[in-house]
Amino acid sequence: MKLNLNIQPLNSWINTNGKPLIIAGPCSAETEEQLLATANMLAKTGKVAALRAGIWKPRTRPGEFEGIGSIGLEWLKKAKQETGLPVAIEVATAKHVEEALAAGVDILWVGARSTANPFTVQEIADALKGVDIPVMVKNPVNPDLSLWIGALERINNVGITKLAAISRGFTSFEKSAFRNEPMWEITIQLKTLCPELPVICDPSHICGNRELLPYISQKALDLEMNGLMIESHIDPSVAWTDAKQQLTPAALSGLIDNLTVRKAEPADAVAKDILADLREQIDKIDDQLIQKVAERMAVVDKIGEYKKDNDITILQLNRWDEIIKKRAVFGKALKLDEEFTTRLLELIHTESIRRQAEIMNAASPVTHK
Ligand code: PEP
Ligand code: MN
Repeated sequence: MKLNLNIQPLNSWINTNGKPLIIAGPCSAETEEQLLATANMLAKTGKVAALRAGIWKPRTRPGEFEGIGSIGLEWLKKAKQETGLPVAIEVATAKHVEEALAAGVDILWVGARSTANPFTVQEIADALKGVDIPVMVKNPVNPDLSLWIGALERINNVGITKLAAISRGFTSFEKSAFRNEPMWEITIQLKTLCPELPVICDPSHICGNRELLPYISQKALDLEMNGLMIESHIDPSVAWTDAKQQLTPAALSGLIDNLTVRKAEPADAVAKDILADLREQIDKIDDQLIQKVAERMAVVDKIGEYKKDNDITILQLNRWDEIIKKRAVFGKALKLDEEFTTRLLELIHTESIRRQAEIMNAASPVTHK
């Protein structure tokens, strides 16, 4: 499956000077002073391509600060005037879109809670019909790639071609160090379906704290994401929302300095040859791996037939326990991560059981070559 979106490249709507796009600014616009001070400090770093601020805040529970509202648009206008930087805000209703457009906001984004609701996304999309403005779509709070794609399609269908996705992590029941699990595989899947779609990472909402920000930011760049949106506040200790995850503009500047931007491909011919040779080795090993797995499955089938003929159950826990233990020790000796070895074996085991169940349930004796 390929995703058919009509997309313009990132550098057609924002100047990043060939570097990853950095969007920064407070979680929420709180006061005119706070917004302008933060914006000016961020602009002074020379490392930020656009300013962000939440004006209307979607809160999980009522009673929390729900955003300063329309007055914030006036402050953003000033911030834009003073810094010369384009400004970005979240919109969640048609009215938000209309007000943002009237105030000259440069970039809009759809928040994670909105993306999860197709009615909301369609309302936003309808308000954008005939408008030429960049729109960034955050992943939905729940790990559902189709919802994310659906939102991008709805926005693209009304003619928005300056489109980007934002990876901000997903709600998970697993206990984790992150506020929202990155679940990189979902973003990678999106990239695979639509390679021309720019994808930005939002490390702030993935981490939920300052400490993990450098790790996630670097990881995002290493996964070839096109940029980062990071929350920055002039004084995070007194921030009205998301205080734990915001950075001062100076700290943000330090974080950016410490990031390594790696190339997708080596530039010189010698390095290219070395890489090509190593990739050839990997391809060969992968072929052998698949062949070996197929050989294993052929033996599994034979065992299945034997079990069927002799009325023996498929699953034999003792034997399975022994396999896992022995192989995990072997894997460890070969410097493989124990959990990885276990997961790999479990996957193979599940498939083996599935095949044997098929053999057991076949009406007549099955012949396997
Ligand atoms: C935000 O960017 O401040 C925000 C509310 O993010 P999300 O929609 O990802 O929760
Ligand atoms: Mn926030």
